[in-house]
Amino acid sequence: MWIYLNDRFVKDTEAVVSVFDHGFLYGDGVYETIRSYGSWIFMRDQHLARLRRSAAAIGLTIPIPEHRWPGLLHEAMIRNDVGNEHTDAYLRITISRGAGDIGLDPALCPTPTIVIMTKLLHPPSPELYRTGVTLIVAETRRNLPSALSPQIKATNFLNNILAKREAIAAGAFDSILLNWESHVTECTVSNIFFVRAGRLCTPALACGLLDGITRDIVLSLAQEAQIPVDEGHFGVEDMYQADECFLTNTSMEVMPVTMLDRHPVGKGTPGLLTQQIQRLFIANRAHLKEP
Ligand code: PLP
Repeated sequence: MWIYLNDRFVKDTEAVVSVFDHGFLYGDGVYETIRSYGSWIFMRDQHLARLRRSAAAIGLTIPIPEHRWPGLLHEAMIRNDVGNEHTDAYLRITISRGAGDIGLDPALCPTPTIVIMTKLLHPPSPELYRTGVTLIVAETRRNLPSALSPQIKATNFLNNILAKREAIAAGAFDSILLNWESHVTECTVSNIFFVRAGRLCTPALACGLLDGITRDIVLSLAQEAQIPVDEGHFGVEDMYQADECFLTNTSMEVMPVTMLDRHPVGKGTPGLLTQQIQRLFIANRAHLKEP
């Protein structure tokens, strides 16, 4: 596997980062995960823009100019023989504060560490889309936005990892994290939607969640299809009363949820509105790809 590290592509065995890297020592860094459909990198510019926003939020200057990123991402796919007419690619960009003496001052690290990894995308199995997935509500609360904004896609991911551990221990696919006011936020690597009385509901960004790129697409598609949408503050009871539920993220797209805290969501099968959104998403994706 070829990895882009700082200023060139190296073999994975040579892709080594210093133990003094503040990404390793303190989780001081930002990242993005992106996917391709064939060689087409989906929502590339939106992901790169979010990477820049995350970096700006922590005062990290990305040393690679904007215009070089598309070429680097494509080279990463070509070198690894993914993201072509036969395969879709998973891409991850990580930018850490870089290596520096021990201590919290970012000025200790003169040069950020930049890594681009790409590999074959492994989407969830078709069976999961047919049956839907199971969720629990985690004990772990989502980070307080004024303490660490969930809008920053930071390499410090412990908040989400703790909630994921709870899901694994409960035999669930994932966990829903509530915020400091017991409002639903999102899952560990995805945004959440539910349907109640024909309305599509999703937590507002003010609840403290990542502004998912897939979430944004789904909101626009729902608006275009004149599906009534409520972006708001919802509690666990709202989720328990939902007729349908689904998750969104870049690699899963739209994944139905059919069990929550061991109770079926609606009829316990992927709902009609969920299926409509899945169809709209796939059709829109094809439309976006047209030159
Ligand atoms: N929420 C969290 C915490 C995430 O990590 C992710 C994706 O990585 C998402 C939501 C979904 O974001 P996107 O649709 O941009 O992939």
